[in-house]
Amino acid sequence: MTKIRVTIWNEFRHEKSHKAVADMYPEGIHGQIAAFLGTNADIETRTAWLDQPENGLTDEVLANTDVLIWWGHMAHGDVLDSVVDRVQTAVLGGMGLICLHSAHFSKIFRRMMGTSCSLKWREVGERERLWVVNPGHPIAEGIGEYFEIPHVEMYGEFFDIPTPDELVLMSWFQGGEVFRSCCAWFRGKGKVVYFRPGHETLPIFYQPEVQKIITNAVRWAKPAAGGRMTMTAPNYPAIEKFTVDE
Ligand code: ZN
Repeated sequence: MTKIRVTIWNEFRHEKSHKAVADMYPEGIHGQIAAFLGTNADIETRTAWLDQPENGLTDEVLANTDVLIWWGHMAHGDVLDSVVDRVQTAVLGGMGLICLHSAHFSKIFRRMMGTSCSLKWREVGERERLWVVNPGHPIAEGIGEYFEIPHVEMYGEFFDIPTPDELVLMSWFQGGEVFRSCCAWFRGKGKVVYFRPGHETLPIFYQPEVQKIITNAVRWAKPAAGGRMTMTAPNYPAIEKFTVDE
């Protein structure tokens, strides 16, 4: 079986500077995501982080990545623009990109969206109910009508994104807000998924439904048949023989 090669990228700074984060995710958020994804026979994982050379995302790493998962929060501005260019090119060529939670403000997500990606937020630990609004979508497989996360940071509309090509989940929060919490877009030959749940001090990446959706999203976002393509704007010869009237 050809495995889906997933690279999980993390800033990996909160875990080093905040004890509560290190206690919640002792192997790093990337380590926890790699741990649950790695239990699937069809997925193989590697990790990369901000403070590695070239932010851990060299041409070689991206060439061997089918789906890139992105976690960032406190250091979006430290990501090299040259790396953002490289990731964008890989996505347009067919690589999948899954942006989690506070990655809404990452350079790469904003690049792929072309909008501010602003939203409302509040951190009081309220409950979130996530409704499946596209039950036939592969990313929602196995989730049922809805699921709940007991304590979250709220993200509310207006979420400044282009209208999603596919909307999978809508969230409701105890405080009254709603949010488009799982969205998908096609960009070039590639696919981009945004999935809202997360937060570095909450056990959200241990929750089975969250793990299931990220796993489903990896399978959905993997490159389409035929592999990568390069967007080069070619001068293209006609397929039919014909003459043009003088
Ligand atoms: Zn957060």
